[in-house]
Amino acid sequence: MVKHMKRRYLLKTMGLGCLGLGLAPELLAKTVEGPFVCTDENTDERLKDYLHKIHNFNEPHEDDVIIDYELYTIFESTVMRLRRLQRLVGHGNFNILNFPDGLALARNYSKVGEFTKAELDFLELVFYEDGQRYGFMGQKPLKEITDQVKKKDVIKIPRSGNYLYKERSIEIYQNIKKELGDKVILTSGIRSVMKQFLLFLNKTYESKGNLSLASRSLAPPGYSFHGNGDFDVGQAGYGKLNFTGSFTETEVYKRLSELGYLKLRYPEDNKLGVRYEPWHIKINADV
Ligand SMILES: [Zn+2]
Repeated sequence: MVKHMKRRYLLKTMGLGCLGLGLAPELLAKTVEGPFVCTDENTDERLKDYLHKIHNFNEPHEDDVIIDYELYTIFESTVMRLRRLQRLVGHGNFNILNFPDGLALARNYSKVGEFTKAELDFLELVFYEDGQRYGFMGQKPLKEITDQVKKKDVIKIPRSGNYLYKERSIEIYQNIKKELGDKVILTSGIRSVMKQFLLFLNKTYESKGNLSLASRSLAPPGYSFHGNGDFDVGQAGYGKLNFTGSFTETEVYKRLSELGYLKLRYPEDNKLGVRYEPWHIKINADV
């Protein structure tokens, strides 16, 4: 897989160098390497291609990075084990389950079973891979696979099955609740590294191993700001539609917008390689 991705990475680097996407300096340093020379013409083409990909985020694209055939069985068994682990601890607890604790639980409960060496290697490979190789251009707030959510720092939000950080997020959430009452719900709060693994790999699994396609909807593990205070809101009773573009048609969206709460992490046509997410509230405005 590494060799395959290296090639993809070079192609991707070329595209981004031409786009001049306003990346962090350390990322830009990488994009100027290599023999590629860009003209204004192909910049336009590449931007068009990029926007097409982002607007059709749920469809495969010719540049997408796919999990290689040799790794597929390991990938599949990892996803199944993560799903069994979530069933064991329950959906709510799994949101804040730390990686080392998850491994210990899997080892101790035969209905989950210990992660094999190959599965652990696979998880490490995914975690420490540069998200840019998939086309994900955002920052990485959680640097280590063992980064922890500390129970003393979080608070469970009643009836939501989700948690928020006491320091960073709860005040904003409470203000939103004060303004909008029961109409607004917390649809996703803190996500531990383990939780983001399950979400990202589930999406990759649905997409037949397409890591790039998955990363257009879900940040790869470590890259999600749900690990760092961001959260998602929705309209009560709107179900899965809260995670689609039609969320912008709800009263909750309109009110939040008027009140100035919608400082979005992934605005429309962002250059981070991520679909438009009008429901995702950015907590740390400086990152
Ligand atoms: Zn989100």
